[in-house]
Order: sequence, then C-alpha cells, then structure tokens
Amino acid sequence: MSTNDRKVPTSRALLEDLACEDLCTFDHSGNCQAHGYSLDPGEVCPQQQLKQLLEEDDLHPEYAGLSPEAKWWAEQELGSTIHYHNGFGEYVRGVVVVLPDGQRGIKPLELVGNWDNSHAGYHAAKILGDNPGWQPHISNIYEHPSFTDDRGVNPLTTVPFSKEELLEWAGARSQPA
Ligand SMILES: [Zn+2]
Repeated sequence: MSTNDRKVPTSRALLEDLACEDLCTFDHSGNCQAHGYSLDPGEVCPQQQLKQLLEEDDLHPEYAGLSPEAKWWAEQELGSTIHYHNGFGEYVRGVVVVLPDGQRGIKPLELVGNWDNSHAGYHAAKILGDNPGWQPHISNIYEHPSFTDDRGVNPLTTVPFSKEELLEWAGARSQPA
C-alpha cells in the first residue's frame, strides 16, 4: 500500500525526465529517426506514447493530487467499522467498502444512537435493501479526526437497533401518510 502511494509521483517525475521534446520524424520505412526507434508497421514510437501518457495525466489532475477528503477516504482500510452521524446523536454504523465509482465509502449495516421513527425510515430501508453505500462528507464521520459534535452519544458503545425495529421503521416510511 505505502509503496503504491510513493510510486505514482516518482514515476511522473521520472517520465517527464525521460520525455524528449522533439517531434517524431519518420524515415521511408516508418522508423522514428528523431528518437532512434526501429518500428514495425502500426507500432507507435515510445516517445509518442510517453507524450500521450503525460498529456492524459495533465487532463486528469484528480489522479495525481487527491483532495484531503478523497485522500482520507482512500486511506481507510476496507472492512473497517466507521460511523456516519446523521445529526441529533443518530448514527449509521457501517464498514468501509469500494463504491461502484471506485472510491471508498460506507456501506450501512446498523443504526445506533438516538434514532426515532421520524428520521430512521430512510436509513433503515437502505440497510434492509442492501445499499452498496455512499461517501458522506468527512465532517459527518465519527472516526475522522475533525469530528467533534457527537451530541453526547458515543456510537462505539451503543447497541444497534434490532432488525425488527428496522423493518418497522422502513415499513412506516413506505406506507402512505
Ligand atoms: Zn519518435
């Protein structure tokens, strides 16, 4: 893991060093004379490939410099337990998963804390429906170092609501008012 973290920026600098600014110049048999490569028909000069790689990297800066939030999520260990604070001491307990978009997020598994039926239905339905998860803002994650407003509820020591309670909340939500 930590090897990969270091590999990318180092490779970028290395590739920039290796890249030649000269344009390819081809002889009559299609070899690149500027860079000294003998090329088979259809083969692209490695210098041309390198230029394309660096250009694509420039067009996708999110791959190179992640935001602090994205970086925090990327560093979370898969399968570790985290808690999303819905407000009012209501927490969703879940595990870190890879989301369909490739980023990491929380897959909801349990409700803990001060839930009542006015807020719980939405999250109960997500849990019962095997929701793939989502990426909340880090300010709502109990485990993030900047989290402070726990409303006097420690989600680590609270007992989850039962499946029967989740079913009741989810059911109440789906019924017409
Ligand atoms: Zn070339």
